[in-house]
Amino acid sequence: MRWRLHRFTLTKDVPLTISRGTTAAVEHLLLELESGGCSGWGETGGFDTGQRHVTTSALEAELRQWLPALEGLELPAPAAWPALLAPLSAPARCAVDLALHDCWGQKLGHPLWRLWGLDRSSCRSTSVTLGLSSIDQMHQRLARWRSRLPATRVKLKLGSPDGLDHDRSLVEALVPQLQGAELQVDANGGWSLEGAQQMVPWLAERGVVLVEQPLAAADGDEQGFAALQGLAPIPLVADESCWGVEDLLRLAPHVQGVNLKLLKTGGLSEAWLMARLARRLGLQLMLGCYSDSALLNGAAAQLLPLVEWPDLDSHLNLADDPFCGPLLEGDLLQPGPGAGLGVSRC
Ligand SMILES: [Mg+2]
Repeated sequence: MRWRLHRFTLTKDVPLTISRGTTAAVEHLLLELESGGCSGWGETGGFDTGQRHVTTSALEAELRQWLPALEGLELPAPAAWPALLAPLSAPARCAVDLALHDCWGQKLGHPLWRLWGLDRSSCRSTSVTLGLSSIDQMHQRLARWRSRLPATRVKLKLGSPDGLDHDRSLVEALVPQLQGAELQVDANGGWSLEGAQQMVPWLAERGVVLVEQPLAAADGDEQGFAALQGLAPIPLVADESCWGVEDLLRLAPHVQGVNLKLLKTGGLSEAWLMARLARRLGLQLMLGCYSDSALLNGAAAQLLPLVEWPDLDSHLNLADDPFCGPLLEGDLLQPGPGAGLGVSRC
């Protein structure tokens, strides 16, 4: 296999603020693998979950050191990928895992969702994200989303540094504007346990359909989720707390859902395993993103038929996305029909 690694810039149409700060643009890495006449693509980039911080520069250095191991190899069978990629960190592994999946699917001539036996007609609408802001800015952001898609699922970022009163004021101002849309809330770990114990029942009374990552991720954080169970009939979803299969098993008794992101899982191999395991454990799935392009989201979209709460809107908020991937009809997101990841250059 031959490889090339490039940096590219992704600029947001509207900068996104969450409890940990604001993102306006990021640099990501495109990995191209060539083997036997087909070219597979993968993407990775730095991100910060509060508990873990990864830079694009560190990922680039890690990949440039490791990628020569692929030179002289033919495309290995999928069963050999976990051992081959084991030395890599999860986000570095993501780029290679996606490029291998892309090559594999192209060689077989089918998209991954079809090779996995999934039914594309069971995909659901994606949520669109409203960042932490003032009430006026929140209303403007919702109007902007509505100018391009129906926005039947809205995800509001909470955990404001200005405190719970600001969080409550955002929800109070948004609920009358929903026009029947579903409201999800993501605190990004910005609440204390006491604050979360107040907020979860309060949000349930206002019709919010799920609360994501109420408490900061930490060792033993399943105890925090456990302390919030039974306060209200509202699903709790782990995001920053859940990276791989071990986290999923640890959290499963104490949450109703998990948010899978390919940069956390290290690509599709682990995410596909986690998605099937989560369903067997009776958990519901969210499928999320960081500041990712349509390449990473097109790869994630291969799992959409298994997902209750798709949350793949980052590529819909980019001014300079080089890629076209998932299909969007209204706010229904589906994996593309093309072989492999189904992603092309725009
Ligand atoms: Mg989240």
